[in-house]
Amino acid sequence: MTTLTVSHLSKHFPLRDGRRRRTLRAVDDVSFELRSGQTMALVGESGSGKSTIARMLVRLTRPTAGEILLDGTPVRSGRRAVRRYRRDVQMVFQDPFGSLNPAHTVDYHLRRPLRLHGIARDTTGLRTAVHDLLTRVNLTPADQVARRLPHELSGGQRQRVAIARALAPRPRILLADEPVSMLDVSIRLEILNLVDRLKREGDLAVLYVTHDLATARYFASSTTVLYRGQVVESGPSDEVILRPAHPYTQLLAAAAPDPGRPRTAPPDGPRRGGQGPATGDTGCLFRDRCPAAMEICRQEVPEFTVGAGHLARCWLRQPGTPGAAGPPTA
Ligand code: SF4
Ligand code: MG
Repeated sequence: MTTLTVSHLSKHFPLRDGRRRRTLRAVDDVSFELRSGQTMALVGESGSGKSTIARMLVRLTRPTAGEILLDGTPVRSGRRAVRRYRRDVQMVFQDPFGSLNPAHTVDYHLRRPLRLHGIARDTTGLRTAVHDLLTRVNLTPADQVARRLPHELSGGQRQRVAIARALAPRPRILLADEPVSMLDVSIRLEILNLVDRLKREGDLAVLYVTHDLATARYFASSTTVLYRGQVVESGPSDEVILRPAHPYTQLLAAAAPDPGRPRTAPPDGPRRGGQGPATGDTGCLFRDRCPAAMEICRQEVPEFTVGAGHLARCWLRQPGTPGAAGPPTA
């Protein structure tokens, strides 16, 4: 049983706005937990901070504050510690076209992590391991696929290679950052089903980063919704998506199509006004877009309210707010 704990994670950037110094809060005080056998969806629009969180989790970006713990142990810095950590925590990126080196074969891409992490060393061991990885992601005949160059593969096949490469070190945690948003609609579910099967076979924990609530509900047992760098709602996917408690999630849910018909919006979802990371203003970050905004929403930041595992950060859910609906049910 593996647990990845994200505790009060933040990524802030200093901003210069004429003479004023401001802080861009790309990720602000985000906490959650991810366990083996579980898929958690991290949902939000473009600019909500979800990719920055994923990058901090594989240590491509250094957090400003907060901690990442693997089975209760804080992740240390230093090359060896990071390499050891990356054996356990691997990432599949959004762009299957940019993530593979066009000059190298599939075989090369898979042998590298196998060697680097000491999974296989000699020729026979490497050949067997590459064959096994390609078979697990349904790229057969494996020996033929191994000899191909990235340009000889379709987008879906490339993403399968990227998944096989991520599995090479035998990780316990897989981070998938919008793994299907750049693929043809017709193969998106195939790739997500593959990740789901690999999760069950390998008892992996999966963090599924997406802007698509429909696939989040279908593939993830729990969902965390981000808005401008902050978590606004989290809980079991069915609760969060079918009975959203936060007005922002309600807007997202109202716009989501059926899981069988993934939407054809641009890769990162539609851009709307008033979004992007927060820069340190007061009150609820959603107040300018919220159809239910009240006076208090402009003055004070709402806390999380707890309803049996379903959390929402909204004044409407705070007991005691005039007209409030109370905590979400779960
Ligand atoms: Fe809307 Fe206020 Fe809730 Fe923010 S706190 S989501 S502005 S009702
Ligand atoms: Mg992104």
